[in-house]
Amino acid sequence: MINFNKIFENSKENNPNLKLNANYPEFKEDIYKCVKCGFCLTACPTYLDTGLETESPRGRIALMRAVTEERLPLTNRIIDHWALCLQCRACEAVCPSGVPFGHMMESTRNAVNISGKQGLTTKLVGLIFLRFLLKNLGILRFLFKILYITQILKLHKLFQWKIVSSLLPKQLSNTLGNPPIINRRFFTTTSKTIKPNTPYPKKKVVLLAGCIMPLTHSETLHACVEVLKINGCEVMIPEQQGCCGALNIHNGELKSGKEMAKKNIESFLESKPDAIISASAGCGSTMKEYHQLLKEDPKLLDQATLFSKLTKDITEFLIELPLIKPKGKLNKKVIFQNPCHLLHAQNIYEEPKKILDLIPGLDIIESIDENCCGAAGIYSILQQSTSQRILEKKLANLLKESPDLILTANPGCMIQIEQGLKSKASNTQILHIIELLYQSYITEIS
Ligand code: SF4
Ligand code: SF4
Repeated sequence: MINFNKIFENSKENNPNLKLNANYPEFKEDIYKCVKCGFCLTACPTYLDTGLETESPRGRIALMRAVTEERLPLTNRIIDHWALCLQCRACEAVCPSGVPFGHMMESTRNAVNISGKQGLTTKLVGLIFLRFLLKNLGILRFLFKILYITQILKLHKLFQWKIVSSLLPKQLSNTLGNPPIINRRFFTTTSKTIKPNTPYPKKKVVLLAGCIMPLTHSETLHACVEVLKINGCEVMIPEQQGCCGALNIHNGELKSGKEMAKKNIESFLESKPDAIISASAGCGSTMKEYHQLLKEDPKLLDQATLFSKLTKDITEFLIELPLIKPKGKLNKKVIFQNPCHLLHAQNIYEEPKKILDLIPGLDIIESIDENCCGAAGIYSILQQSTSQRILEKKLANLLKESPDLILTANPGCMIQIEQGLKSKASNTQILHIIELLYQSYITEIS
């Protein structure tokens, strides 16, 4: 019988002859921007988890320098230190020297991928999920339909049996045994323009549906469309759109990420919108950086720059509009969990608070924890034990005052926190902030 776990272990053998050939031009300058002050240490969830310098931003940059200068060979142990980074960018937000850690890590991972020495699981996930399924959303939908049926029949529990799980890589059997909740009906894109609820449109917007979100959070996207309509927007959800490429880019799959960005630029700008809306913080932050991703493509740079300028997180867009005040009273105790890619990568923290302040009846708990929840895209699949420890800490803080609802603005965080709440049999629920806003609007009408 094939022992996958054994194969995975063998793939971790060190290769002392590898070099780091990062292919982004400013990389070699950026690694020297770090002055080793250590301000980033206490912001870094993996440093807080391990207490190790090698699992801190400063340590990871030191390793990038050492390998670039060829003082150290590119070993699998070094690759593992980089792989344990969540790409949460909390370090970037507090760094006084302006070290662009997110881009440096994307580039480093890209170089590791090109070297072919990433772990076998990372390789397989890159090849099958990032480079194939996310570019072929029809096939991804079909697979999620099958997963939905297995969930209804509770067949996913088979993967929790030791005899079955021992046949598969640990990451895969854990993921299949505890899959995210899949919607019965998926959210679909449309060639039609959706009219606003007001007589004349205030703005013409296009909405990113994304890759996984329409399959796991169709009701969130539905609420976004309805809230935009209530606020006088004409909404388009172009059929030609694809995945934004965030998962690929964060994992160093830059080539496929750029192809996805190009496809979206074409399909989103065609209708000359006033804004491009994302309800997913991870996607929005990547789309706001398309101009950096494509800066060496002179043919696309202007279009990419326009695309990035037009991109708004839905909370940011609604507050700028400004938002029509909802009147439906919701007697709920809530806490907002600001996703890393909203807070650190997009610097958005006031807007969600302003939305909550407008909803009548809420008892809002001030969140003191700005750390990552451990989801971080496919990190929760690739680095399960660290991801779970970080989630535990996060949940302990979020649940301290027993809220009815934890609110957030990113589907990855929703899946991660939902699974954490389920494992604790907690009565607290997780919801996208726009769904709560929509509830207030419809409570007002009924
Ligand atoms: S805060 Fe910035 S400059 Fe200081 S150690 Fe961290 S990355 Fe380096
Ligand atoms: S991105 Fe997050 S996990 Fe990675 S080094 Fe920075 S703070 Fe730590």
